[in-house]
Amino acid sequence: MQLYRVILIGLLLVTSPLYAQEFDIDIYHVDENGIGAAIGSVTISSGIFGVVLTPNLSGLSPGLHGFYLHENPSCDEMEEGVKTVPALAAGGHYDPENTNTHLGPYAQSHLHLGDLPYLYVDKEGNATLPLLATSLKLSDFKGRSLMIHAGGDYYSDEPAKLGGGGPRIACGVIQ
Ligand SMILES: [Zn+2]
Repeated sequence: MQLYRVILIGLLLVTSPLYAQEFDIDIYHVDENGIGAAIGSVTISSGIFGVVLTPNLSGLSPGLHGFYLHENPSCDEMEEGVKTVPALAAGGHYDPENTNTHLGPYAQSHLHLGDLPYLYVDKEGNATLPLLATSLKLSDFKGRSLMIHAGGDYYSDEPAKLGGGGPRIACGVIQ
């Protein structure tokens, strides 16, 4: 009986890292020149009601910022026509069902799954308030990127596409 217990505990210890569902994503400023200075990290973990994102970021402008899971694991700038667009290599908002519809995180269906609740930045420029992504699983995050936009997000394609959040200002790749 004792041996059985030792084996059981050993098995739990050996396999526990497989279930330690939490990882940190380093976030960097991005602009037309590419990837810039580090501004902190976002920890993502699996919770009962979805994925919890806990930011530990600084150096952002105060207020609300559009925040998204983007399709590709890259924060590189890319040419688009005559201009260079910050972090364009990340692709669009994660949209596995090809809805092409930006409705924010609280719509019931037919939406970009990568639309996250917006990121709140305090007057010192820090973001520490955790967010809950109810429609995503941790596995959705792997091999993609997290993106912060200059402005907020009105969770609609109207009057401007993609919530009107403006340029991409910070990004982190999820390995
Ligand atoms: Zn979207």
